[in-house]
Amino acid sequence: MLTFLARGKRQTGRILAIAAAAILWLGPALGQAATHTIQRGETLGVIAKKYGLSASALAAHNGIADPNRVKVGQKLTIPAKADTLTYTVLKGDTLSTIAKKHQTTAAAIAKANGIKNPNAIRPGRKLKITVGTAKKPTKPRPAAIAGSTLREINRPRIRRNRWKHIVIHHSADSNNSIRGMEHYHRRVRRMENGLAYHFVIGNGVKTTDGKIYVGDRWKRQIRGGHLASSSLNEVAIGICLVGNFEKTLPTAKQRTSLKALVSHLRKRTGVPFSQVRTHRHINPKPTICPGRRFSLRSILST
Ligand SMILES: [Zn+2]
Repeated sequence: MLTFLARGKRQTGRILAIAAAAILWLGPALGQAATHTIQRGETLGVIAKKYGLSASALAAHNGIADPNRVKVGQKLTIPAKADTLTYTVLKGDTLSTIAKKHQTTAAAIAKANGIKNPNAIRPGRKLKITVGTAKKPTKPRPAAIAGSTLREINRPRIRRNRWKHIVIHHSADSNNSIRGMEHYHRRVRRMENGLAYHFVIGNGVKTTDGKIYVGDRWKRQIRGGHLASSSLNEVAIGICLVGNFEKTLPTAKQRTSLKALVSHLRKRTGVPFSQVRTHRHINPKPTICPGRRFSLRSILST
């Protein structure tokens, strides 16, 4: 009878122990905080792995500055994975270091906590952080201007205040080639410097769609021949899009390239946005160039 009772007690004890372990184990799964007592031989890394966390996230959650200095018997609070925890900002913390510790982003923490100025987080401030929400790095977007073209554009030394305007043209013929335009300007129009524009953007017919051709006049930083005014030609960069925009629209690639080229040239030359003009708007003589269907502002603002 006595032994029977003792065995019963022992069994009840064992069941209670199993139940307690089950609660501890289920805690994180249920999105509740659990605790873990550090055993001999356990590192933060081992414990973190057990709960599907990183050592740094676990350390940060428990305010442990040095993850290598934990004691046997020390109790850790285990945040549920992808759960929200409260983090108290320490001295020297920045949003990005905090984000890194919790595998999230500074932007996500700022958003969750209504932080307008990410540089003004004071020690002691409590932040709600959702662990492990960092997005995988996305592939960088392809550059709007090809690297080799960019080097060609950047090669010449640009004198300060050299350029005052950027003027956009169409070629008026979608079948134009660079060689044909060069021939027309040099041989027919008898321009000693050849191609009148500094840049030509191809349309995919006899030129590559969206390709920026860097003209000789840009390489030499000399005057254009694209306006009916000698003084304007002296200070106006000419960009010509192949096509007739009385009839058709610029291609999507032409639009993207034009926007990128204008933006890059403005940075290099200091030409203000207000001085990016169409031929029609700047020319002293009436012209339809670059065509009624061409909208400069819609291209530059999208
Ligand atoms: Zn024109």
